[in-house]
Amino acid sequence: MNKIKGLLLSLSLLLLALVVGIFIREQKAYSAITSEIKDSQIEDKKEAKNKENNKKETNPTEVTDTASDKFKEETFDAGEVRAITKGEKEYTGEKVVFLTFDDGPDGSSSPRILDILDSNNVPATFFLQGQYINEDTKDIFKRMYDEGHCVAAHSFGHDYGYLYPGRVGNAANIISDFNKIQERAKEYLGKDFSFKTWRYPGGHMSWQNLESADEQLKAQGVEWIDWNNMTGDAEPASRRPTTAQGMVNMVKQLTEGSSSNMQVILMHDNRSKELTIQALPEIIAYYKDLGYKFGKFK
Ligand SMILES: [Zn+2]
Repeated sequence: MNKIKGLLLSLSLLLLALVVGIFIREQKAYSAITSEIKDSQIEDKKEAKNKENNKKETNPTEVTDTASDKFKEETFDAGEVRAITKGEKEYTGEKVVFLTFDDGPDGSSSPRILDILDSNNVPATFFLQGQYINEDTKDIFKRMYDEGHCVAAHSFGHDYGYLYPGRVGNAANIISDFNKIQERAKEYLGKDFSFKTWRYPGGHMSWQNLESADEQLKAQGVEWIDWNNMTGDAEPASRRPTTAQGMVNMVKQLTEGSSSNMQVILMHDNRSKELTIQALPEIIAYYKDLGYKFGKFK
């Protein structure tokens, strides 16, 4: 009997040893799998971190982009604003004012205007003449762009006789003139830059048969815009205010008499427009008091 008991005991011990052995092996295999998973998770994290670091390294170039993205939320499409100011499209949204300056850049006036805009933290649109964008003004031109304002095209040469012979739009000349200012701007802002907004010299309202030029500009992604308000700084002498206060008053009167929630103000930043610069801080304060948003074009 004792012999059988001893045999059974050794058999059970053997069986136990086998079971324990299998269990340990399984455990080892399991922990190998889990550690593999953990390793791959660590790898993933490393990769993610590397990606993040790479991102950080490329950031300096992104910073230049964001500099010109200032006032991004204040950007409007000129075609839409045009339809709204002409009453062709209904608009009941917040009131918006567009400060626009034609005929620059100018080495003396433009920097002073930029300083005023900067201290009031508002955007503007500069409708530039290609002939004045050159080595002497390139820093001002770049400053307009870098400080988040809209740089828009206002022809290369501002030559009425070439653009509108006999007061009739010559589409070929207008497009050729537009391409010329576009090329000039690319010299300073890079080949990827392109104008999105255009103002006809003298205003679209002043000339006939501009439909073909309008369409060809639109095909290049460019919308035109006139104005529905002004300081009067380029009006004939009989209507031109002779004081800065006179200009502020003209803007106020035109605003009060307007039924539009969008005011596009025509001003100029060429050398002879001293009164506009003097009037600008009060014009900005006036619209801030009325709760207007300050917009710019694309
Ligand atoms: Zn002009």
